[in-house]
Amino acid sequence: ASRMVSPERRSDDVGDTALRPQSLSDFVGQQQARKNLSIFIEAARKRGEALDHVLFVGPPGLGKTTLAQIVAKELGVGFRATSGPVIAKAGDLAALLTNLEERDVLFIDEIHRLSPAVEEVLYPAMEDFQLDLIIGEGPAARSVKIELSKFTLIGATTRAGLLTNPLRDRFGIPVRLNFYTIEELESIVSRGARVLNVGMSADGANEIARRARGTPRIAGRLLRRVRDFASAADADKIDRKIADHALSALEVDAAGLDAMDRRYLTTIATNYGGGPVGVETMAAALSEPRDAIEDIIEPYLIQCGYLQRTPRGRLLTSHAFRHLGIAEPSRDAA
Ligand code: ADP
Repeated sequence: ASRMVSPERRSDDVGDTALRPQSLSDFVGQQQARKNLSIFIEAARKRGEALDHVLFVGPPGLGKTTLAQIVAKELGVGFRATSGPVIAKAGDLAALLTNLEERDVLFIDEIHRLSPAVEEVLYPAMEDFQLDLIIGEGPAARSVKIELSKFTLIGATTRAGLLTNPLRDRFGIPVRLNFYTIEELESIVSRGARVLNVGMSADGANEIARRARGTPRIAGRLLRRVRDFASAADADKIDRKIADHALSALEVDAAGLDAMDRRYLTTIATNYGGGPVGVETMAAALSEPRDAIEDIIEPYLIQCGYLQRTPRGRLLTSHAFRHLGIAEPSRDAA
């Protein structure tokens, strides 16, 4: 993904590990999730037991990986991370699981992308902390059970509906992450500026926060790019003017929409009279995979109130027409 405002990890995001909060109290926003997690962590610690399996659900860039690391840290246990597409064979997962120590956290990002064969191995591991392995082939094949350490699986996914039911049912602690408010993003940007040792005024932080699409990863990325503009201009402080200039140059508009978002909205507005139009039609019109449209483009547009998902398809709101500066067709039933 090469979009400046893509919520997914990009190659230029390596610097954002420096911005990662290290504890639940450092972690801004997601108050409900933090409150629940801290209660369950405290309980598991008191009992000296592994925390129940946790499933983080929410759009990319909202802090699922960060929270998983924090959970392990607060539990005082080891942390291992992998992702669904990386675990190719059942044996790969078995190797990971047998290496875990008592109460360790195993984090599997994009857990909905595990292959069915790998998922089969995961069920008894999650439920009974056992591996059922088949050794050998043909008539000589036999099954062996291996005891595992009692570990905590933390899975992350963009939509709960992408998981198979048996997998979803094995998570005792489901946690939904929501888009951040502008105020929360302001404090993430200000904290990031302190970590990066760059001056930041309140209106500068506000300008970056307003364009960060409710997503800390994007806020961090915009901050780093705006900082480049500021140092090129020899400015010792990022204020609204510098932030606005830099973000406009990067083609991120006042609402945080980029060219791709505007193309999506404009297509519905001009080619389909504002909708409703089916997602498959939009995928074809934009030459984008349906998944990318549903997981990456639409959530923020819906969050902003530009778009509605209806049973008959996608529908632009009056708000979207105003943002685009396109006259809204009258929708009187003819
Ligand atoms: P996800 O796993 O959901 O895609 P990450 O945990 O990788 O998201 O978060 C992306 C980046 O955003 C992190 O590197 C971190 O710097 C930042 N971040 C996420 N959540 C927060 C938060 N609540 N406060 C501060 N920074 C955050």
